[in-house]
Amino acid sequence: MQMGGGQAGGDPTAQRPFQLVKHFSVTSLVIILLFTLAISSVVSVRASDLVLHKREQYALLLAENLNHQVMVQFVMPALRDYGGINVGQPAQFSLLDLVVRNTIQSFQVSQVNILDLDGNIIYSTQPDYIGRLGHYEGPFQVAAAGGHASTLDPPWDPFELGAGLPRVFKTFIPLRDQRRLTAELGPPRAVFEISLDVSDDFKEIWLNQKIIMGTLLIMMALLFMILRSIVMRGQRIEARRAAQEAALEEQLHQSERLASLGRMIAGVAHEIRNPLGIVRSTAELLGSKVEPRQKALAEVIVEESTRLNRVVTEFLDFARPQKAELKPLKVEEVLERNLAALAAETERAGVEVVRRFPAKPALAMGDADLLYRAFLNVFNNALQAMSGGQGGKLTITTSRAQQDGQVWIVVTVEDEGPGFEPQSSGQLFDPFFTTKEQGTGLGLSIVRSIIDTHQGKVELGNAPGGGARVEIRLRAAQA
Ligand code: ADP
Repeated sequence: MQMGGGQAGGDPTAQRPFQLVKHFSVTSLVIILLFTLAISSVVSVRASDLVLHKREQYALLLAENLNHQVMVQFVMPALRDYGGINVGQPAQFSLLDLVVRNTIQSFQVSQVNILDLDGNIIYSTQPDYIGRLGHYEGPFQVAAAGGHASTLDPPWDPFELGAGLPRVFKTFIPLRDQRRLTAELGPPRAVFEISLDVSDDFKEIWLNQKIIMGTLLIMMALLFMILRSIVMRGQRIEARRAAQEAALEEQLHQSERLASLGRMIAGVAHEIRNPLGIVRSTAELLGSKVEPRQKALAEVIVEESTRLNRVVTEFLDFARPQKAELKPLKVEEVLERNLAALAAETERAGVEVVRRFPAKPALAMGDADLLYRAFLNVFNNALQAMSGGQGGKLTITTSRAQQDGQVWIVVTVEDEGPGFEPQSSGQLFDPFFTTKEQGTGLGLSIVRSIIDTHQGKVELGNAPGGGARVEIRLRAAQA
């Protein structure tokens, strides 16, 4: 029969807690990262939209102003003075350049181009751009058709790694005729291309995005660590509980096994005791009727059956459930009953009994029959220890003591035998542990289990003189 518990390595429940923590850690880390990226990119896209909207408003305001100034201060005087518009003429160019520069001087503009409706740059604040074809598809077309449109170059990428990309925001607005008196606008004549340098704005957005991302990451990492430690703690508690449950289950199985073993022993012992009594009394009868030589044989039968009867009784005592009915009693009275029953044996062994009882014995809580059985085993051991023919003293002391906030009645039994062997000290209470040739090893386990049911204590040791010393503590009755 296998007595051990299950194997930890093959138990799937032993693996589960770790896997759960691992799974939880990896998933939550990935979720946290994605969440952080999503939040920070949403925030930065919103910030970029806001900046671009403001910049476009700014460019439109400027374009309106430019349109008015160019019409009033350049187109009209040029038509009047030169009879037509030709920006290629140095005089006309200088006039236009002056008008444009005066208008934009208080605005933060990096470049202004004027394109004809075919997309050729006819004027620029950067002279080397003049004459080039502006390759502007969508935004230019929108402006040429009378609307306005903007573009960011290069476009903003919320996941951009580098912080310092130079960025230009270009707005395309039509240049229209303007009636001097009504300020009414005519159809588009050309297109303004206003470039604003937005590198600093986007540097700031980039920086803010990184700050938001960093803060979120730190906060989420903290949250993650807190969650993780809660999960780990929960799993440790769960594992401990599972281990406790397994230990309890094992204990239950063990006591079930012991109980069925006890029932079996009790059954067998009972079956042996009855015929044994008949054998003994028959042998006694036979001994009284036969001649002396055969009488000796009959005596052997009586002696052995008496010994066997004692062994069987010990087995029965061990197997019988010990249920104590505690009542206030004088332990000295129980001890006297034991000594009376053992008087003949004590005398035969040449043992002197010394009683050290107080004049006024205190009451202990106990079950007289169970205590009788317990003391009997202690006395039997003491007598056996002094049975070498040399005799000795059996000293029995009772006293009252206070310990752990409890009043105890202490019974001490000392003999003058060889004492307990030091190497057996850990096993003395184990059932079936014996150093005697004909012992059962059940005496001290019976003593222990009886005293346990009294919620008392048993301590084994050797007296200073060398003999064994057994100390039994019972709870005192409430005075
Ligand atoms: P058993 O008497 O059948 O051996 P016990 O459980 O009563 O079983 O005792 C177990 C062992 O404890 C004994 O075999 C013996 O070695 C030791 N022992 C018990 N009482 C004494 C004693 N008074 N003196 C010396 N050894 C003792």
